[in-house]
Amino acid sequence: MQRKTCRHIHELGEFGLISLISGKVRPTPAVPVSIGDDAAAFQWQNGYIGLTTSDMLVEGVHFDLSFCDPFRLGRKSLAVNLSDIAAMGGIPRWFLLSLAIPAKLSVGFVELFTSGMLGLADEYGTALVGGDTCASKEGLVISITLYGEQQEGRIIRRRGALPGEAVFVTGTLGDSALGLELLRKGSTDGRCISRHLDPSPRVREGLALAEAGLATAMIDISDGLLSDLGHITEMSGSGAFVHQDRIPLSREFAAHVESLRNSDYSLALGGGEDYELLFTAPARNRDAIGSLFAELGTPVTEIGEITSTPGVHVLSAEGKPIPAPKAGFDHFSTTARDTRSSLPVHWEE
Ligand code: ADP
Ligand code: MG
Repeated sequence: MQRKTCRHIHELGEFGLISLISGKVRPTPAVPVSIGDDAAAFQWQNGYIGLTTSDMLVEGVHFDLSFCDPFRLGRKSLAVNLSDIAAMGGIPRWFLLSLAIPAKLSVGFVELFTSGMLGLADEYGTALVGGDTCASKEGLVISITLYGEQQEGRIIRRRGALPGEAVFVTGTLGDSALGLELLRKGSTDGRCISRHLDPSPRVREGLALAEAGLATAMIDISDGLLSDLGHITEMSGSGAFVHQDRIPLSREFAAHVESLRNSDYSLALGGGEDYELLFTAPARNRDAIGSLFAELGTPVTEIGEITSTPGVHVLSAEGKPIPAPKAGFDHFSTTARDTRSSLPVHWEE
């Protein structure tokens, strides 16, 4: 028998690997949204759709305990899951917490981790209802599965963006990636570091957009603006352009870019973990979106447009295409250093 060529996982990449798995899955009745969106949706009751999402944080990949305190780690573990429910316009409800814990960790660590996580759960009216616990021989692994709900017809998927529609983003971009860089260089506080260690999920904003029916497609920015906009355009069968000079930057981020004397937007275009919402809407909804976000007290910026030709392009202030930085984060890339950790991913050579 001929031996199959042994392909390595990094040849497929993270998304190729997910496609390999999802390609073997048969469609399930009563699951209108399956693999490929921020959360899966299933038929619930009384006109409601159930939403479920799962995100894992792995020591040495997503966080480094030398600069990540347990309280904020607990908050972030839940925040990244809340962000995926927010990206569907859902209401978060219950979650399961699974932990693989190295025995050397202290009880105090677990106490702080838990109070951070449950404090954030209270802020969003979400309850811990179960999970699983085991020992880990390597690092700490935190996996949360969060359930939410929303009225049928209100959820906002990654697909649905139409050519000519405007692209909007909440808050500012690049802060988390810059925060990680600053942590690596030995800084310990500041706005960007706090955005990296303790991100705020945009649950209220996602919900408000769903209730107002203003957005056609939505995703949260976990991998980076260009990569996540790429997910919207792929799922919608379209393309997009963004104006680099319209990317919203915080004062701290802008000052940093200036102090380096470069106009390098790569952290804002390609850096992950800002957990802002990226959404599309017909241009006629522009004013209504402005009023909605003014009421919420959250900045929102129109940064580009959906096109019928595939691909995501970055335009200069003069409207000329400019080379984009390497987009987004891939867990299995051999070249990219993990943007989420100070350590190289352990299976890379
Ligand atoms: P997000 O960044 O929003 O958390 P991901 O990029 O992690 O989304 O995942 C993309 C999609 O693939 C999601 O729908 C997720 O549920 C699904 N997915 C990821 N890993 C697996 C897996 N091992 N098996 C099945 N589905 C997966
Ligand atoms: Mg997401």
